[in-house]
Amino acid sequence: MTMKQEESRLQTAVDTLKDAGVRITPQRHAILEYLIQTLSHPTADEIYKALESKFPNMSVATVYNNLRVFKNAGLVKELTYGDSSSRFDCVTTDHYHVICEKCGKIVDFSYPGLDEVENVAEHVTGFRVNNHRMEVYGTCPDCQNVH
Ligand SMILES: [Zn+2]
Ligand SMILES: [Zn+2]
Repeated sequence: MTMKQEESRLQTAVDTLKDAGVRITPQRHAILEYLIQTLSHPTADEIYKALESKFPNMSVATVYNNLRVFKNAGLVKELTYGDSSSRFDCVTTDHYHVICEKCGKIVDFSYPGLDEVENVAEHVTGFRVNNHRMEVYGTCPDCQNVH
């Protein structure tokens, strides 16, 4: 992503929050900026560590609370893994994740063909389907080069 794209995504996100009646504090702005700049799907803890020098009064709980606000406004998706290490993804268009089993890196890719799965699931089970999640596991290029 170029600087210009990052800036306009940040501006769009700020506008979305304003429309939702959310006050833009310097911390909120910094967390949003970090989420947009890093494509690494960070945990709240990682965001906290990246920003704590800038905001000495900030706690991990503050970061979490802000992430909840962003999530409610539809700006981020939370990826839960059955423990406390939720990851946050600010790309809210549909995409899938490929996850490195060695270093935990998460990379986005899109594959629109799988939308059919939702139709089949509805048809077979009678559920009303809202979304689906698929993850692919393997070894990332960096980890493949470690011998
Ligand atoms: Zn890796
Ligand atoms: Zn993602």
